[in-house]
Amino acid sequence: MTFQTMPKVELHTHLEGCAPPAFIKQLAHEKKIDISGIFDAGGGYAFRDFDHFLKVYEAACTTLQSPDDFRRLTMAVLEETAAHGVVYMETFVSPDFCGGGDLAAWKDYLAAIEDAAREAEDKLGITLKGIVTGIRHFGPEACKPAARCAAETFGDFVTGYGMAGGEMVRRPADYAYSFDMAREAGMPLTCHAGEWGGAAMVAETIRHLKVARIGHGIGAIDDHAVIDQIVENDLVLEVCPGSNVVLKAVDGWGSHPIAKLRDAGVKVTVSTDDPPFFHTTMTAEYDMLNKTFGWGEDDFKALNKTALAAAFCDDDTKARVAKRLETAQ
Ligand SMILES: [Zn+2]
Repeated sequence: MTFQTMPKVELHTHLEGCAPPAFIKQLAHEKKIDISGIFDAGGGYAFRDFDHFLKVYEAACTTLQSPDDFRRLTMAVLEETAAHGVVYMETFVSPDFCGGGDLAAWKDYLAAIEDAAREAEDKLGITLKGIVTGIRHFGPEACKPAARCAAETFGDFVTGYGMAGGEMVRRPADYAYSFDMAREAGMPLTCHAGEWGGAAMVAETIRHLKVARIGHGIGAIDDHAVIDQIVENDLVLEVCPGSNVVLKAVDGWGSHPIAKLRDAGVKVTVSTDDPPFFHTTMTAEYDMLNKTFGWGEDDFKALNKTALAAAFCDDDTKARVAKRLETAQ
């Protein structure tokens, strides 16, 4: 078995962020939108740093204007992801990009995404679940409609609530209202923290937002007390090493803390975040973890087991995915 064909579970992706550049270019062409400035000479996405990345990301999203666009997007993304052995994927979906936070519009977009997910499951054997996501840099007020959309559509496909976007905007406690709303609806929670904001941001996120998982969380490495807190609370980190390297959240693969966190007893998982933006795939992530830290098949099997246990989906889906992981091994 190669790293590419090994069955994988991926918990941290952003649906629009997985959009192949050629797909976005095609949509821009069809809609006569000029976003040529977001591409480099090779046809990939071009950005300078994290803030510029967010701008380029949002510019790409301007081409996604209807439920049908999202149906096509979901299919294009799942074809790409399944080609790297991913059998179960959770993806962040944002009502802000799907109808501007309006609940009725959101339901239309969601139906289209679910449709494509069902088709992909039949054709490609990959299961997709959605985590509704507030965008942090749009502010605490803008996250409330996202949380309401999440709570109102929590079910088979929408399995959790989370927050992405610019981590240094406000503090976690400012977003507690949205997280409380989702928690009261019974939703499991995750939040990006500790990609840029260090251990303190991770600690505040645990304290105020009471999440089960943390997006990235790598800043925890600088504070033993925060690592202990993660372990004691049985939290899981959605680590995206390739993303961290490209965005320079770490100096390079060699200094990425994923191995140290794992050795400290933290439950780590591996994801691609926004693969075409970061020139990565799940195969490439495994390859680099192998080259950098010597991780092999047994490590990756354990990693996928951890990820599936931490998945937000129902037990029946977990049992089905577990079988797919086992039969291929
Ligand atoms: Zn992310």
